[in-house]
Amino acid sequence: MASSSYSNSPCAACKFLRRKCMPDCIFAQYFPPEEPQKFANVHKIFGASNVSKLLNEVQPHQREDAVNSLAYEAEARIKDPVYGCVGAISVLQRQVIRLQKELDATNADLIRYTCNEIPNNTEDGRRIGEGGEGSSSSLNQSLSGFYYPSSPWNNDPCGDAYQRGSNNNM
Ligand SMILES: [Zn+2]
Repeated sequence: MASSSYSNSPCAACKFLRRKCMPDCIFAQYFPPEEPQKFANVHKIFGASNVSKLLNEVQPHQREDAVNSLAYEAEARIKDPVYGCVGAISVLQRQVIRLQKELDATNADLIRYTCNEIPNNTEDGRRIGEGGEGSSSSLNQSLSGFYYPSSPWNNDPCGDAYQRGSNNNM
């Protein structure tokens, strides 16, 4: 009668294997009749009996993930018979490495620009060298009028201390 009703239409696996889809069919939940290619791929690469064995071995809550993984791997293997999904993984890994290098280079540029900009943003452009950190304790006291606790320079990645007042810490 109603050929589209759930109980009457066999799952993609049983349809493909030309057998009756029983109520306890292990494939029915994961291979709906609307996705015939999904089972065809998995069957071609892994074999229906292996897939059935595998689904019976894993916990019911893991079966959907297992089927999705098998379907992905099968499709990748059909597209790329030599490397399969490993081909896609290595392409993505190379991309990650390239982007990581790009990010490192950009971060290094950022640090460089931040360090170079500090003298231009101070009032007299004075900057103490790399060893200037030792004077920072007296710096806060002597520069109370100029000291901004929320200043972004507190996080200065260069580690440079600088002062804008007189040298009364000497
Ligand atoms: Zn079935």
